Amino acid sequence: MKKYLLMLTMVAGLLGIPATTLVAQTPTIAPTPNPSAVPVVDLTFGTSLQGRAITGTRFGNGPRKLFIVSNTHGGPEANTYQLALALLEYFRQNPQQVPADVSLYIIPTVNPDGLAIGTRFNSRSVDLNRNMDTNFDACPENDWNQTVEGAYGIVSDTGGAFVESELESQLVRDLVLDASAVVWVHSDGGDVFPAFCEHGPSIALAQAYAEASGYRYDRYWRNYMITGGMHDWAGALGIASITPELSTGELPDFDENLRAVQAVMARSEELLPLVTTTVESTTNITMPTLLWRYWRAHGGPDFFGLPISPVVEYQGWPTVFFAEQHLSLVPDGAERMQPAMRGEGGLALWQAYLLDQRSTSYQVR
Ligand SMILES: [Zn+2]
Repeated sequence: MKKYLLMLTMVAGLLGIPATTLVAQTPTIAPTPNPSAVPVVDLTFGTSLQGRAITGTRFGNGPRKLFIVSNTHGGPEANTYQLALALLEYFRQNPQQVPADVSLYIIPTVNPDGLAIGTRFNSRSVDLNRNMDTNFDACPENDWNQTVEGAYGIVSDTGGAFVESELESQLVRDLVLDASAVVWVHSDGGDVFPAFCEHGPSIALAQAYAEASGYRYDRYWRNYMITGGMHDWAGALGIASITPELSTGELPDFDENLRAVQAVMARSEELLPLVTTTVESTTNITMPTLLWRYWRAHGGPDFFGLPISPVVEYQGWPTVFFAEQHLSLVPDGAERMQPAMRGEGGLALWQAYLLDQRSTSYQVR
């Protein structure tokens, strides 16, 4: 199995000197695994602002990557954490249930500080599910805003100082870049809804999840508009992206969600689209989807400029040149990602973290 990593090399113009290297993992094309030997791999993706590990487990090694991301909202939604732990235990006992073409990632919490403190927010009072860059889809209603509506419709300035201002948000942004689908588990609405801005794969996934779990299907969250939400951010990157809401704030709804995860994996070819190529809409240039997602998620035309060529080989790697920078797919080797910081103006600044930020380690998985 050959894995690739994405390397971003900053250049001053096309012929300049590389200044910064960033890496992320690309989709893998796996051989058909032996059902009796499905790999189970425990992973640490990084740490929260207060230094707690953000971990997960991968089951299988198929190319259709399905992520279950739980507990974005910390203490008040601790039952989503309990659900993820129960699913982890179940698939540890039954790894052969993960089909040969699927990799199932279960991440019990992306907000361990909020879980420990007992708050919906992260450790500096930002709502991580209002902090993502949702400004590049076609829907203005869900654009990031510092002033947000939250649980019970309470309005507060908890969207963060700017898009993806939080360490945990930056980790999530790079964690699921190569996903076919992400299930962002919350509580306690008792429904499941897809990314807000019209996205067929997200809608199909939400309907399938609703049918198998018994949760009500909603086309969107009924109670108020969610701005800067992880589900909308992922949908805009072409990732099938849904939010199931457990029925209560106490119970993990294990049976309901196990049925839904099993149903989704059983329809993997239909519901977990392969990550292949994407056509950049302004130029009509086709490029590897991971390159496109990385470009789009880390500043897009504002930072890299528009693509100026289809993929070419450069320094031995498949590379897309943009007006200002280029991105290359490179094999395993570099294992760290330096997340980008975004400035107040929303422009990505590819530079070392500010002094009060810590870089996030990115493990090959
Ligand atoms: Zn929530």
